[in-house]
Amino acid sequence: MALSSKIKEEENLERAQVSVSKDVAATLVSKALTWASLNGLVIGDRSIEGSVNPGVGIVHAPVALLPSPFPEALFQQALNLGSHFNTLVDRVSSDSDFLEQTLAKTRTADPFTDKLLDIHSKIRAEGIVQNIHLGMHRSDYMRDMVTGKLLQVEINTISSSFAGLGSLVSQLHRYSLLDVIKRVEHLDPGKVPENNAAVAFGDVLGLAWKEFGNTSAAVLVVVQPNERNMYDQFWLEKYLHELHGANVIRRTLSELYSQAHLSSNGTLSVDGHPVAVIYYRSGYAPTDYPSEREWHARLLLERSSAIKCPSISYHLAGTKKVQQELAKPNVLERFVQDKNAAEIIRECFAGLWGLDSEECHEIINKAIQQPELFVLKPQREGGGNNIYGSAVKAKLEELLRDGGAGLSAYILMQRIFPPTYTSYLLRGGEWSAEQAVSELGIFSAYLRNGEREITNKDCGYLLRTKASKVDEGGVATGFAVLDSVYLL
Ligand code: ADP
Ligand code: MG
Ligand code: MG
Repeated sequence: MALSSKIKEEENLERAQVSVSKDVAATLVSKALTWASLNGLVIGDRSIEGSVNPGVGIVHAPVALLPSPFPEALFQQALNLGSHFNTLVDRVSSDSDFLEQTLAKTRTADPFTDKLLDIHSKIRAEGIVQNIHLGMHRSDYMRDMVTGKLLQVEINTISSSFAGLGSLVSQLHRYSLLDVIKRVEHLDPGKVPENNAAVAFGDVLGLAWKEFGNTSAAVLVVVQPNERNMYDQFWLEKYLHELHGANVIRRTLSELYSQAHLSSNGTLSVDGHPVAVIYYRSGYAPTDYPSEREWHARLLLERSSAIKCPSISYHLAGTKKVQQELAKPNVLERFVQDKNAAEIIRECFAGLWGLDSEECHEIINKAIQQPELFVLKPQREGGGNNIYGSAVKAKLEELLRDGGAGLSAYILMQRIFPPTYTSYLLRGGEWSAEQAVSELGIFSAYLRNGEREITNKDCGYLLRTKASKVDEGGVATGFAVLDSVYLL
């Protein structure tokens, strides 16, 4: 049997195990909407004025009505990678020369990376005043239909979102399968794995806060002024408070410019509150820095003795350029001496190519000839920034026409083609059946004080599902919905 028809057959078998008829799906809609409202599976409703404030203008989070099939072996593989990537990020971030060299050409073509590196070198010159390192990451994967392998899309080291709401979707799906349709469709809610991402992330924030050693100091959450995804963040704050009793303050970078102060010993205080931990849910995009004030605030926070999640070096270790550099022969292996661990990590690397070396002409030509096989990525986070399909060809040609200097801002990545299925997507109270693909995110937490590793573990998951005709991903950007896995 040809590979493609065998793959089709396997996909159909997979989907058949989780599918229900449209009629049954329709019965799930009002139950799911009610459950979401009762259980805080919600976001701010942009159409309502004032919805940046908690409790005003709330709408259910976009979700899939049913979990999506996912092979258990690949799910376990992804979970297992969580602690490996924690260690890798920590080691890469400790190698300042590597970060600066890897990003040296990128910064010449990308002013945002340049600004981040400026902060990095200032901190490096002054000396790092905090030796407690906190990572709260999400590594994202897709299944490659051609090889059946799990391939990493990227790792997020700053503002990894949806630990809060993602945990709830798993609960919603177990409820839907158990209470609403189990008897009709023979679906087993036990096949939706427990998801403790919100508790684990709240807990690790609290462990870092404790390690700081001043119980009157707060956890500072750095937020965007127009945030609508704050309920996701509130879930972590709730568990942080319940498990550890830490207080939380929330400020934008602009507010911090006028309210944050450093004492001579490096203690950060905001409006008189000392700060133990800084948790960024902002600061990852150029739009988070509309003026020099916000950059000034970021540098001030970075100079402080507070534990940063992430520090500037963890932030840079999560860039797409670093991801691509690590995929080159023998680079990952410099940071991971254990051969077995390096193999486990490398197994999930997709094809990645830099555009800043002498040898890149061949891959550029290939991408111009077959752009549908590649994704062109700038150094950006948060969705909506990548270039796909014929636009890859157009952009590469434009960059070459302009002399080629702009190429260094980008990397090229092999386009992953995951299996597609019919999914029922629920947004703004309306549902539709779509041919969809999914991306699995594994949360992981890392905490180290000097040489002492306190936490290094995977922390639950997030599945995001989107119509297969859509290139980009991201829930906040409106492309994808939150989902959970049904293990096969
Ligand atoms: P961001 O940091 O903005 O989230 P990503 O690298 O995760 O950037 O890309 C955004 C989205 O684009 C992903 O969620 C995924 O849907 C899609 N995407 C990214 N890389 C690939 C790829 N190599 N193949 C297929 N889709 C991709
Ligand atoms: Mg990202
Ligand atoms: Mg992403």
